[in-house]
Amino acid sequence: MGTKPPVLISQERIESRLRELGADISRDYRGADLIMVGILKGAFVVLADLVRFVEIPLRIDFMAVSSYGMGTSTSGVVSITKDLDLDIQGRDVLVVEDIVDTGLTLDYLLRTLKTRGPSSLSLFALLDKKEAREVPVDITYRGFEVPNRFIVGYGLDCGERHRELPYIGILEEEKGY
Ligand code: 5GP
Repeated sequence: MGTKPPVLISQERIESRLRELGADISRDYRGADLIMVGILKGAFVVLADLVRFVEIPLRIDFMAVSSYGMGTSTSGVVSITKDLDLDIQGRDVLVVEDIVDTGLTLDYLLRTLKTRGPSSLSLFALLDKKEAREVPVDITYRGFEVPNRFIVGYGLDCGERHRELPYIGILEEEKGY
């Protein structure tokens, strides 16, 4: 299967950052009616690890979206391919995303969720590719800032490969990983 993509952020660093952010979430949402919404497929790993560091009761739901890019870039045209099962009206919603790149997907998604009347709506993003931002996105809980490179591992794929890697890596296409 060849060599693995080089490590950008190790398993240990991810775990200690999630522990800190889990404590922040536990403090900020004490007494709230929290629903954590994972965006499939990329956020499935981080959501599973993060909730184990959150020490208050919560509900979990998932959404799946697909964005139609022009070539390699996101166009901002997003369609919901799996909607929430839960009603979020009057609840405190924390969207959990793997990576914010241009911000177009999240901008659309957050605007859509807002129309459903949650009490509060915030965003957790494990990775922030700040340099690539095209529309501003307010990230309340941020794991790490990453360079403008193609990231894989820890839920993130390239053509459905590499999601299972326990660390965050950089894809070096010229090496054929
Ligand atoms: P945005 O709308 O912010 O440009 O892109 C959001 C989505 O694009 C992410 O949820 C993710 O699925 C995908 N994406 C953006 N950058 C990367 C990256 O470096 N690696 C991978 N695997 N996916 C990315």
